[in-house]
Amino acid sequence: MALGRSLRNVLIIDSGLPCNRQTPHSYNFLTQDGKTPEEISTLAKQQVEKYQTVKFYKGLAIRGTKTENGFEIATHANDKFTAKKLIFATGVKDSMPDIKGFADCWGISIIHCPYCHGYEYSKQNTGIFANGVNAFHIASLVNNLTDKITILTSGKADFNSERMDKLNKHNIKIIETKISEFENHKGKIQNVIFNDGTKVSFDVVYAAIPFLQHSDIPVSLGCELTEHGCIKIDNSQKTTIYGIYACGDNSNMMRSVANAVYSGNLTGAIVNGELTNEQF
Ligand SMILES: Cc1cc2nc3c(=O)[nH]c(=O)nc-3n(C[C@H](O)[C@H](O)[C@H](O)COP(=O)(O)OP(=O)(O)OC[C@H]3O[C@@H](n4cnc5c(N)ncnc54)[C@H](O)[C@@H]3O)c2cc1C
Repeated sequence: MALGRSLRNVLIIDSGLPCNRQTPHSYNFLTQDGKTPEEISTLAKQQVEKYQTVKFYKGLAIRGTKTENGFEIATHANDKFTAKKLIFATGVKDSMPDIKGFADCWGISIIHCPYCHGYEYSKQNTGIFANGVNAFHIASLVNNLTDKITILTSGKADFNSERMDKLNKHNIKIIETKISEFENHKGKIQNVIFNDGTKVSFDVVYAAIPFLQHSDIPVSLGCELTEHGCIKIDNSQKTTIYGIYACGDNSNMMRSVANAVYSGNLTGAIVNGELTNEQF
């Protein structure tokens, strides 16, 4: 939007697979609290399309190359586009564990973030599918929302004695038995079933799972990643390669719609500023 309002020619290439596409409602973004992800992105698209120098292209970018004046992007349909600057707003792909039912519940009753979905599940019977520091961190946050918490480590628990004391102090249970299934009805979790055949019912499960970059083009163009797998950026959203910027989840561990919108807004202004410096 910032680039469109600056009369810059922008092409948005989008394959249409945002990470939150399965979640029924998106929360914690002022003015859009509780809307579906699609409602939010449709409204965003309508507002951006109003600016005539912005065009959309539905498709998958598969290759990026450096050219004399900037970059060339090739798509799966074999279309090619050139640009002086590249902004990657490509997000990340969550790597789901290969456990029956997990993917069905993802974003519905298996959730990643207490700020996005915790309020709706407050006071309810809550599982945390994680171990070690991640599990402890989630438990400490969720403890303010419910007093019915069980950590599901699906293997040997990994907490030092200080953390274990705190978990005990707050009556947080730990189950180490391996999980074989997240039994659910249309994504709404009913029971966690363990390898030994036992089952425990939950209303919601938090999960800390790894992620990968959604697009490998930034790395193929030489952009460095951080130790956490985010695209490395400075405080102006610039990557380690001149002319390439990143915003949203691909370069920020604090994954939220508000953060993605904020960093996209900043990137638009920085790119326009850089084009201005080069041309004025
Ligand atoms: C299950 C779930 C629920 C969530 N709920 C909330 C919530 O309630 N509130 C909240 O604030 N946040 C929520 N989030 C976080 C929020 O969805 C993200 O922070 C936000 O979507 C990030 O926006 P983004 O544009 O960076 O990435 P995405 O929304 O993931 O969008 C990236 C886009 O880039 C496209 N793309 C990637 N690679 C290519 C390529 N090579 N060619 C073309 N297109 C490409 C993808 O198809 C996708 O459309 C949730 C996340 C998840 C996973």
